[in-house]
Amino acid sequence: MNPVTEAALRASFVNCTKGETQRLAVPKDLATRPWDDLDFFGWRDPSAPERAYLIAESPTGLVGVALRVAAQTGQARRSMCSFCLTTHTADGVSLMTARKAGKEGRQGNSVGAYICTDLACSLYLRGKKDAGRRIDESITLEQKIERTTSSLGAFLHKVAG
Ligand SMILES: [Zn+2]
Repeated sequence: MNPVTEAALRASFVNCTKGETQRLAVPKDLATRPWDDLDFFGWRDPSAPERAYLIAESPTGLVGVALRVAAQTGQARRSMCSFCLTTHTADGVSLMTARKAGKEGRQGNSVGAYICTDLACSLYLRGKKDAGRRIDESITLEQKIERTTSSLGAFLHKVAG
């Protein structure tokens, strides 16, 4: 994706109030992120482990969503990210829920997905970050990226309503 500025990033959120958007923790090293290798940009709030954020490009511009990270159960098990299909052990995948945008969100509706806890799906796909195990697939990297962005797009569509 194209590099994003802090201002563009803050302006992209669809499921936050203006106040929340102004207060949320944005990484200070935006300029040095590996944008060429990112299908979307996700990060955790270092001072609030239950908060995560995700920004993606869409035909209508940048879309950002704030996510709640469910507490880990601590059970040793493998689980798979629903976006990039990387298999992780134990807490490498988290259930993250996004409040829906607008009226539905105000009524308490949310959308959840199991996502790589560090939101580094793009780097796992490209082999730039190692999760220990990936399912063997005969499809190309381009096809995997396509599948990931389409799953992500479907999720964002549900959040934005
Ligand atoms: Zn993932």
